[in-house]
Amino acid sequence: MSRTGTATAPSLRDRLRGQLADLKMPGALEALDDILRRVDGGELAAGEALAQLLGAHITLRNARRLQTAMRSARLPVVKTLGDFDFSFQPSVKREQIESLHTLGFLERKENIVLLGPPGVGKTHLALSLAVATAESGRRVYFTTLADLLHSLEEAQAAGRLTHRLRTLVFPTLMVIDEIGYLPITRTGAMLFFQLMARRYEHASTILTSNKSFEEWGEIFGDEVMAAALVDRLVHHCHIVNICGNSYRLRQHADLARRLHTAPEPADQRKEGRRR
Ligand code: ADP
Ligand code: MG
Repeated sequence: MSRTGTATAPSLRDRLRGQLADLKMPGALEALDDILRRVDGGELAAGEALAQLLGAHITLRNARRLQTAMRSARLPVVKTLGDFDFSFQPSVKREQIESLHTLGFLERKENIVLLGPPGVGKTHLALSLAVATAESGRRVYFTTLADLLHSLEEAQAAGRLTHRLRTLVFPTLMVIDEIGYLPITRTGAMLFFQLMARRYEHASTILTSNKSFEEWGEIFGDEVMAAALVDRLVHHCHIVNICGNSYRLRQHADLARRLHTAPEPADQRKEGRRR
């Protein structure tokens, strides 16, 4: 088959390269030659070629955004919705979680509270929402409550509390993990309250806790303040109550089961030892 007349002219190729470089689209630039080769070979229709070119740009852009966010957002590890096994945790409604991952809650400045015992996937889901937010190009900040209070107390001691609070109001999404694991001082509770009051109706926060709201008074050492905090929190809030087994323990249970149902030769060895 002669490709004369259908092959992309070198001048057009150069123009496309120049345009992609000008638009700062390195992912698309890298994919260009291969896409044009497949267009010239009749493998790719024009529309599909465009979709692939833009797709290459988006893939690289998201990977870079995530890389940057991993540093600036202090995400400890990447977890995604795709890694979450819904069949293991039936109390988690797939529809609700998928809908949250479309990130409409950020536009509406709504909060999310993930409640449940250890190991049920609270941090996993908070992280996957943080990853999706970072990939969308928004600013994210991830912290545990203990680390957050430590940094606020430090700022207060250095006379920089107002500045620090202003910085922490800025991220479109803030994740505050592990509320309830460690006791909080009265000062810590007040600082946390100040931060949440500033973020209220301004930007979204995801909180995770192993304690129910009724127990928050105990965590914060002040029923009135905890009630005011919970009141603001639940006003525009999605509550994900997870009641199920720990995924960490499941992995141990699997291991134990595998050891008990080991293949033939191993069984025979055990039998031998027992005899
Ligand atoms: P929590 O924060 O509720 O204590 P994590 O989110 O840290 O629990 O979960 C513990 C570990 O188990 C993590 O490595 C997490 O990725 C994994 N995990 C938890 N639930 C699931 C699930 N339903 N599907 C896949 N992995 C899960
Ligand atoms: Mg956790």
